[in-house]
Formats: sequence, C-alpha cells, structure tokens
Amino acid sequence: MKLGRLLFCIFLGFISTTSFAQEKVDHLVISRIKEEGFQRSQVMETLSWLSDIYGPRLFASPDYLKAAEWAKGQLEKYGLQNVRLDPLDGDFRGWSAESFSIEMIEPKYTPIFAFPKPYTSSTDGEITGDPFIMKLMLKNGVSVLDSLQKFHGKLKGKIIFWDRGIKPVAPNFKATATRFTDEQLMKAGQQIDPIPKEYLTRVSKKNVAEGITEWSEKDMKSEKITQFLIDEGVSAVVIASNFTNGVLHVDSYDILFPRVGQIKAVPTFVISSEQFSRIIRMKSKGINPVLKLHLNTSFYEEKKYAVNIFGEIRGTDKRLSNETVMIGAHFDTWTAGTGATDNGAGSAVLMEVMRILKTVGLKTKRTIRIALWAGEEQHYYGSRDYVEKKVGEISSGKPKAVPERISGYFNIDNGSGKIRGIYLQGNESVRQIFAALLEPFAYLGVGTLTTQNISGTDHVVFDRLNVPAFQFIQDPLNYWSVTHHTNLDVYEYAIEDDLKKNAVVIASLVYHVAMRDEMLPRKKSVR
Ligand SMILES: [Zn+2]
Repeated sequence: MKLGRLLFCIFLGFISTTSFAQEKVDHLVISRIKEEGFQRSQVMETLSWLSDIYGPRLFASPDYLKAAEWAKGQLEKYGLQNVRLDPLDGDFRGWSAESFSIEMIEPKYTPIFAFPKPYTSSTDGEITGDPFIMKLMLKNGVSVLDSLQKFHGKLKGKIIFWDRGIKPVAPNFKATATRFTDEQLMKAGQQIDPIPKEYLTRVSKKNVAEGITEWSEKDMKSEKITQFLIDEGVSAVVIASNFTNGVLHVDSYDILFPRVGQIKAVPTFVISSEQFSRIIRMKSKGINPVLKLHLNTSFYEEKKYAVNIFGEIRGTDKRLSNETVMIGAHFDTWTAGTGATDNGAGSAVLMEVMRILKTVGLKTKRTIRIALWAGEEQHYYGSRDYVEKKVGEISSGKPKAVPERISGYFNIDNGSGKIRGIYLQGNESVRQIFAALLEPFAYLGVGTLTTQNISGTDHVVFDRLNVPAFQFIQDPLNYWSVTHHTNLDVYEYAIEDDLKKNAVVIASLVYHVAMRDEMLPRKKSVR
C-alpha cells in the first residue's frame, strides 16, 4: 500500500471512530435548562391543574375538551407558535357519569364503593334487587359467547354479579412502589434482542398493525356479549376490581365502544374485590343481600370534543426548520381517578419542557413540536390520526409520497417515575448518539440504553413508519400496582423531584437532537 493511500485510510478511520464521540453537547445550555427546570419549575402546578381541576379527561368528552383548552392557553402563554386543537377524522363519542350509587340495604346497611365503566348506559331509574351470581371466566379479556348461553332466560331484570375469577387478597409483604435496581438496568442495557424473554416493561411481539386487527376482532366479540346481555334484559352488571386493597381498577377494554352508532353497554360497575367477595360469601350461606343502585350517564357525539393538542418552537435554520423533533404524551385518561399518573404526569412534563426551552430562549435549527394525544387509551386514535395524515399508512407501513420530515419522536407514558434511560426499539444506530446526550445526567441515575421494544403507547405508531420513535425507561413506582387506570390515579402519587428531572432531561435531549447537522438515523427495516 502506498504511503499516501495508507495515510488516507488512517484519516478515514479517524473520522469514523470519532464522529460519534464528537456528538456535540452544549454544557452551558444544559446548565441554563437545569436552572430553569430545577429552581423555577412549574411542573407540579401544571399537574395539579390537569388532575385536580381538569381530571379526569375521557377521550372525546366535554371534560377532555375543557382540559385541552386550558392546555392550549398555557402553551400560548409560554409563547409557542402554531398552538392548536386539531379535530380527529372519524366519528368518535365521549361519555360521562352524572351520578351513581350502590348500597346494600339488607340485611344491614352499607355503602358499596363503586365506579361505573365508561360507555355504559343509564339504569332505568333506581333499581332494587338481590344479586344474581354468574361465574364465567373471561378468556383473553372477553368471554366465550357459547358459555353465556346457559344463562339464557335467567337474567331478566337481574343485578348480575359477574364473577370472572377474583384476585386473592392478602396483606402486602412486598413494597407496592419500586425503582429499577442497578442490576435490572444493567441487564436491560446488555440485551441484544429487541424482544427478549426478560424485559423491563411490556414487550409486544406484534407490530401495531397486527395489534389493531386483533383489537377489532376482540371488540366484535365484546359487542356480541353486550348484545346478549341487552337482549336478556339485564338491569346492571357488577364486577370485582382486579386490584386488591380496596383499589378500583376501572377501564373499558371489555366494552370498548367509543364510536358514534356503536352499542351502549348495560350499566356496569366495578366494586372492590373485598366487598364483592363478601356478597358472594353471604349468598353461599343462603343469605340474600338486597341492593339498591342507580346510574345516570351521558354520551357526546360532537366532533369538537375529539382533538389532539399541538404547539411548536419554530426552527431558525433555513434548510432544517421544516424538519421536526417531536415530543408526545397522551392527554386522555380513564375516569375513576383524575389521570394524574396516566398520563397527566407525562403531559405536564412535556408542557414543562416547552416552557423551559422557551423561557431559556433557546434557538434550534429544527422545529420542536409538542403533541398531546387524544384517545390513546382506546386504540391510539390521536397519534394514528396524525401519522396517517402526515407520515404514511399504518396498515401497510407504506410512507406517503412526501412524508413529514421527523428527525425523532420521544414519548412519555409510563407513570410519574424518574427517567432512567431510553428503550431503543431495536434502533442500534442511535445508541452512541443517545449515550453522549444522556451522559451529563449520569449523576442523576439516567443513562440506560436498552435495545428492547416497548409496546402499549403512541410511539409504536411512529415506529411502524420507521420514524425513530422512543419511549423513556421510567421507574415503575406504584404505577402497575396502585395507580394505573384506578381511582388512586391522583396527584399524590407523582413525585416532584422525578417530574422536575424528567422535564430537564427531555428538554436537553430534544434541544440537542434539534441542533444536530443530520436527522437521527433510522433502522434498516421495521417490523
Ligand atoms: Zn397511558
């Protein structure tokens, strides 16, 4: 090899080995972001408004719109551009409960702690009766219609206590709240398979298009079961919460009917597994408790209630300002709590990110856009609406002729726990970039990068179209054990320091991604 050529090769090698190491990190900018985010934070105040005042925020309901209008006002106050509420395509309907109660009035009086499931209709006034115990396990979230047939003709006017298998109740010998241990994080960081056997948070083997098909099949089965209960003339259904300690876990995945014209489920309540079991034990002794209950609900069909929320800090580079770095969190909630941890915390953190960036007065080459999504809890309706309009077709994974140029999409939706790192979603090409950008936060315990796919929230929709899309690794705290979709999804379970750190880490990360010369690299192929 000639000397000149050898030197050239060494030079090339030098460039390629140092280009990652040269990922630019602006420590002065980070210190400004920290001062604003740690010393003048507004994140808890924002969370209090979103949860205490505007929570809960069920998709496509007036409560949701009121909350969205408040958030829009805040983003405008921060000085963002293009702040808007964008209605979704499609005929969605919202729901609310106006009033409800269940009481046992015989053999002795006791109030029963309950919440109704969204998408259920009102009772026919006040109903009194003894419970009819119907034992029938749900399979894969829905029951087999055939097994219901044996109750044909027996359910008219009944208050059905539907025993779907009750979670055993026992004292808590283990802590309900946890943080990831160093060992857990180290193991996750060393994973090589995006779908490993052991994972930190839920992993799905299916891509989002396969998931959507599966959901619609499940919804069709639920509809047949609901129709059966209506045809049989059932008065109300009561089920046991699948959480213990009196916590009510209330969502509607077995009766998910959020579209105009869909069936309205029979009045359905969730009560504590302890009270549910007591009534079953009374019945087994031949004692028939008498229950009194009522439920008054409303449905809403106006398009104005189903909106995504957007705001931007426009990029200043002529060539790059049409490229975006997006941050997203779903804004909608279930109804038993106030939606503080799912996903008020994520929404408040991202609003705080935009406030910090704007207050510090940072100019970025690319545009930074916040998206607060509608209808994630149903089937990612808000983010799907956006991706279909701007990026490409989800079912085929085919991009639009001219898709929006999104450098990266960062999602937050795993409760209020501290960010510990990022799920890479199998995109190994960003590992060194994120390692450099998170390094300044190593002292806060942030920095794990795992190749794991995490499923179950809006980033999967972007990932389907090969937009580099990520969800943060967050400490679980008591999200899966206490607050997730429960009556205890409230302000108290958000930890102030965790949310402050989350806002600062994300603000720094998106600033740096928006300042890079190139967009984030994409995966070679998507599932
Ligand atoms: Zn969520």
